[in-house]
Amino acid sequence: MSNPVIGVLALQGDVREHLAALTAAGAAVSEIRRPEELAAVDGLVIPGGESTTISKLATAFGLLEPLRDRVRAGLPVYGSCAGMIMLADKILDPRSGQETVGGIDMIVRRNAFGRQNESFEAAVEVAGVDGGPVEGVFIRAPWVESTGARAEVLAVHEGHTVAVRQDHLLATSFHPELTGDHRVHELFVNLVRTSG
Ligand code: GLN
Repeated sequence: MSNPVIGVLALQGDVREHLAALTAAGAAVSEIRRPEELAAVDGLVIPGGESTTISKLATAFGLLEPLRDRVRAGLPVYGSCAGMIMLADKILDPRSGQETVGGIDMIVRRNAFGRQNESFEAAVEVAGVDGGPVEGVFIRAPWVESTGARAEVLAVHEGHTVAVRQDHLLATSFHPELTGDHRVHELFVNLVRTSG
């Protein structure tokens, strides 16, 4: 699979930035809003944005169960920030009734790094990404409070886990799609290529 098709869940959030980063990383891209559209992709990105809104819209569009089914069946998925929250089996500080897709055995705390005005950038060393640290953009970012045995911690910032991989699933607290550095997207595109 040299040019995998990677969908971006296009309900809310920074969809365009992920489409551009994935294209730069060598993928063919499509926007996903309906369950039928999921069938055509080799991988999926859940963007940054607001997880409570993404959760609500995914439920309203009938996407939540199809997403859970595809994740269980092995679809590679990368979630940044709100997308990380969507991939967590359990979240702390959810809005009432907030659902996740789940798949990664981790507990994620929403807004753990503080509010909008406490957003920051930091150099983050990510296991599996060569060539030095990536520029981590953290916006009302979650952190990973704990991980289960099958989840691998890929990056830590000031003692907090900020990137995790479990088999075909990848999640970061930060937003590589907002920088010109596409190495995290390349990591994911390679993961999609090798799990095909
Ligand atoms: N705090 C947001 C949430 O709960 C995530 C912020 C982001 O994606 N930049 O969804």
